Amino acid sequence: NDKDIATPKRTKALLDQYGFKFKKSLGQNFLIDTNIIQNIISASDIDENTGVIEVGPGMGSLTEQLARTAKKVLAFEIDQRLIPVLEDTLSPYDNVTVVNEDILKAHVEKEIKTHLQDCDKIMLVANLPYYITTPILMNLLENHLPIDGYVVMMQKEVGERLNAQVGSKSYGSLSIACQYYTETERVLVVPKTVFMPPPNVDSIVIKLTTRKEPIVEVDDEKLLFTLSKGAFAQRRKTILNNYISTIKEGKLHKDEILEWLSASNIDPKRRGETLTIQEYAHLCNNLKKYPN
Ligand code: SAM
Repeated sequence: NDKDIATPKRTKALLDQYGFKFKKSLGQNFLIDTNIIQNIISASDIDENTGVIEVGPGMGSLTEQLARTAKKVLAFEIDQRLIPVLEDTLSPYDNVTVVNEDILKAHVEKEIKTHLQDCDKIMLVANLPYYITTPILMNLLENHLPIDGYVVMMQKEVGERLNAQVGSKSYGSLSIACQYYTETERVLVVPKTVFMPPPNVDSIVIKLTTRKEPIVEVDDEKLLFTLSKGAFAQRRKTILNNYISTIKEGKLHKDEILEWLSASNIDPKRRGETLTIQEYAHLCNNLKKYPN
């Protein structure tokens, strides 16, 4: 369909028509390839009963294809200059709501209740602004929003971290946090050439499926993430030394840390990257008092 927004021709025409200049600071790299969009949509398992949340619709390249497939689309766009463009490009669709807000500040749960109440399933599908990929995902996941899954494009390196297995180079606190809430899988690697303007980095589409049951039981999720972050404070250091320096000001003495590690069956000489989520959960549940 040569009327599709995600083509070089139509995108250029819209840029000219609206005198739109990209803002690098907002991570504006628009998709100009409908094949990539089709791949994203088929990975998202969207049907006519699905509600979709989109972060950063831009000029509507992905949004229009979502609107054709889903029951409803709720899109959050921070850049006010894009609102009249979207009103124009999305005018054929009566199932799209665009909210002119920062996704990190918006009341996403309230908006879901207002706009997507009658949908059987809710997916978040987006070509994310790369400068805030991690805060966006962590914010949505930590708040336990009623989102069944995520199909999101991001910087390749970040995607590999989300999806990393224990012991691998990319494994870290982000892998643990995402895999605690979701099952992660790689959908496809995307070259720079499918964007206008092309970003400096390669991209990847990752699918996150929200777990119905937690992968591990912890008494305190925040503590789980504090402990996994602390274990990677310096990658080359042992878990003992990382905890000595991150559990601050000697509030937990070395002896107490050793005792706690031993009670959790963790060799103090191990490095953070060798511990599974289950092992972090043991640590978490065995630490009765985390000094503030
Ligand atoms: N979906 C469009 C596409 O694929 O062509 C645009 C994707 S572009 C990578 C990211 C979009 O997110 C831009 O439209 C940008 O203005 C928007 N954006 C950046 N920061 C945002 C934020 N904090 N909240 C909502 N949208 C944001």
